[in-house]
Amino acid sequence: MLNQLYYQEPYLREFDAVVLRCEESKGLWNVVLDQTAFYPEGGGQPCDLGHLGRVKVVDVREKNGEVLHRCESPLPVGEPVHGVIDWERRFDLMQQHSGEHLVSGLVHSRYGYDNVGFHMGQDMITIDFNGLIDEEGLREIERQANEAVWRDLETHIFYPDRETLASLPYRSKKELPGQVRLVRFPGVDLCACCGTHVARTGEIGLIRLFSCVRFREGVRIEMLCGKRCLSYLSRIQEQNHQVSMQLSAKPLETGEAVRRITQELESARARISAMEDDLFRRKAEQLAGSRDVLLFEPSMTPDSVRKLCDRLLSSCEGRCAVFAGSDEAGYKYAIGENGGDLRAAVKALNAALNGRGGGKPNFVQGSCAADRSAIEAFFASL
Ligand SMILES: [Zn+2]
Repeated sequence: MLNQLYYQEPYLREFDAVVLRCEESKGLWNVVLDQTAFYPEGGGQPCDLGHLGRVKVVDVREKNGEVLHRCESPLPVGEPVHGVIDWERRFDLMQQHSGEHLVSGLVHSRYGYDNVGFHMGQDMITIDFNGLIDEEGLREIERQANEAVWRDLETHIFYPDRETLASLPYRSKKELPGQVRLVRFPGVDLCACCGTHVARTGEIGLIRLFSCVRFREGVRIEMLCGKRCLSYLSRIQEQNHQVSMQLSAKPLETGEAVRRITQELESARARISAMEDDLFRRKAEQLAGSRDVLLFEPSMTPDSVRKLCDRLLSSCEGRCAVFAGSDEAGYKYAIGENGGDLRAAVKALNAALNGRGGGKPNFVQGSCAADRSAIEAFFASL
């Protein structure tokens, strides 16, 4: 018989117990107590962590009707031990888990969908439903869930007999053997669940649904509750604050400011492109008729380097090589030769100039980490 203090007193942070067994297993010790407040993993809720005396509890599992505390060191059998659970972790999980009930209950009564997957990750909580929910529906569920928080409903946990159970419309992921534990948030949800929950919905604090995307036959919702939600929103606000400061936009006008600056950037890029076209045309005119051109240019995008080389090829006779960059930052290159085969040359170039790149036989592109004099010496040697 399990002596599950986590059910009798879900707010118990410390307790005294007696060590019944302690066995080594896979580098840790499995400790069984006569009673425990450590919740073992179950029902989508991760286990509690904490200490037994000075010994760290790194995992807790239920196995064959016993709660196994996976400990870093052994504990003396038959001796009393004081247990302390990591309350911050447990309370966070109670907030997330209880919030999940409210959301799943509301989705079920509005759409009739089932919760078909629940994962409490390190960062995000996800719930999967077997039907589609649009943005408007999502915001409505979120509003109703938060209203249930503000109403500070009392959680009711009970073990109905088989007959009563059969008559109750409760949510449950699967048919559960033995006594069924029902968790009711009045007017919002009734669900079979083995987890730990807050005593009143007000303790959930707040519920935010962050995203809803197509997943399998339905949707996956990302959600956070309580303190974890507050700290995530604070981090988002900090990001928005930085954008707001850098763009001199009010916090609620950053989206519009980013749209504006993106448009400005696009038109600046178009202007640069037009000016480059003009410049490249002039350069090609100046070099018209020459053979084997080697040109050094300030830093440009790889696309511009390619364009310039293309231009030169249209008016020059031999091999055209463009190196854009600096000795400090290295160079991007484009080399072309009408009807030529540059494969051996570019292989030698990459080896000699610490470069990488390639392409078609008559046109190659890449980058190299060498200085101008070394590049000039290489081409002189060809
Ligand atoms: Zn639950």
